[in-house]
Amino acid sequence: MIDLLPPERRYELTLRLRRAGLRATKPRLLILDALEAGGHHSVEDVLRELQRRGVRLPRATVYNVLHSLVATGLVMVADVGPGRMLLETARHWHHHFVCRECGAVIDVPCVVGSKPCLEPDLPGAEVDEAQVIWRGRCPRCVAASESRGDINAETAVTNARSTD
Ligand SMILES: [Zn+2]
Ligand SMILES: [Zn+2]
Repeated sequence: MIDLLPPERRYELTLRLRRAGLRATKPRLLILDALEAGGHHSVEDVLRELQRRGVRLPRATVYNVLHSLVATGLVMVADVGPGRMLLETARHWHHHFVCRECGAVIDVPCVVGSKPCLEPDLPGAEVDEAQVIWRGRCPRCVAASESRGDINAETAVTNARSTD
């Protein structure tokens, strides 16, 4: 199944895994490659992507691999609130905006760039990470509701005219 990766790609991922102190096993190579397609992935997404590529791995293996990738910092868990665990490759430390309307998860660059980027007012505590979640409506939902608003305004005008 490892033939699914082109040799150069396989070499690159092997180096990344080794640098992180992991042996480059087939499941690790394939899962890291699947996550690198970009964006945020649930465990279900990862399983579906592997299936799409014709790779069959036991669910427990996938969980174990994800666990080791997260533990070594190659993959990071995007904190987007309760209910969803989303994974992504950890190239740059960043935060997330979560849309209340459509659920979109959008990367927001971290102005500091490394963690912890916020220090809490908690004397004596040792902080290694702070994740910020912005919530609201994403640009797409705002634009969509604005254009809906325009249509409603036009209809109101048309209605007003027809009653004249
Ligand atoms: Zn939205
Ligand atoms: Zn992200």
